[in-house]
Order: sequence, then C-alpha cells, then structure tokens
Amino acid sequence: MARQAKCGKRPREDPVPGASVSLEMTYCSFCGRLSQRCACHEAGSDLQRFLERGGKSYAPYKRDAPYKRGVPPQVKSAERRHLQKQYKNWHTILTESNGECCANCGERKDLVLDHVLPIAKGGLSRLDNLQLLCSTCNRIKGKLAIDCRPAKHRE
Ligand SMILES: [Zn+2]
Ligand SMILES: [Zn+2]
Repeated sequence: MARQAKCGKRPREDPVPGASVSLEMTYCSFCGRLSQRCACHEAGSDLQRFLERGGKSYAPYKRDAPYKRGVPPQVKSAERRHLQKQYKNWHTILTESNGECCANCGERKDLVLDHVLPIAKGGLSRLDNLQLLCSTCNRIKGKLAIDCRPAKHRE
C-alpha cells in the first residue's frame, strides 16, 4: 500500500538547463530599466551627458526596494501638487543649506527643485528627496535617479 505524501509536496521537476541564468534579471541602478535595455553607460547617453556637465561621478540613489513600476497617475499628480504647495519653502531651505547653485554643475541661474528619485519611479515630494538643479541638468537627468547632494544629506 502506497503511503500518502505527508504535506502534498510534489517532487520538483528538474530545472531546464540554463533557466536559472535567464531568470536572473538585473536592473540599471540609474534608470531602473532592464540592464540589457538600458543605454546609461553608453557614450552620449543621458547619464554620460549629465556626468560630463558636472565633471563628477555619482553613485546612484540608494534605496532598499527596487524601483516601482507603473506608479498610478493619481499618485503622481498628488505628489506634484504636494511639491507645488511646498515649493518656495523647500527651495529656500535647500538654497540656505547648500548654496544657490546647481548641485551638479554649479550653475546659478534657472534653478529648479528636482526629485532625486523621480515620482515616476516611486519617489515622494519630501525635502529629503529633493535637490536643486539648473534647468539644463534637470532636463538631462530626466527620470534617472542620481543623488548630487553633498554627502551629509544622503541617507
Ligand atoms: Zn540605465
Ligand atoms: Zn546644472
């Protein structure tokens, strides 16, 4: 008489050769895309243009969880509204603590508040996720997650 298996576990099937390799997906720590689809490290990419402009190299924004994908539009607009409400206040605080200049290239004109971790990737409108960038650096950075603040502000 065949005894019933105790916990109903079925024997695991042998893995398909090579499957464990293809399942391991790595994501770019700057743009959050699949590494195979990301151009960050290619010459002329947004990341390279940003680094050239600042003449520095940065570690990507540190975070515990991977980038959020598909942040709902209502969450994004709520975060944008929250930023607008606090904009002047936070702009003043950052200017006073880090100087009135772009955290990447040092430009003093056309400064804007930039989300270190973009809203589209799950970033929040909070003072600890904001930095001052000039409009050019802000445009190049786009949805990349790059922390340009002085080390004391990083987590
Ligand atoms: Zn990338
Ligand atoms: Zn700049």
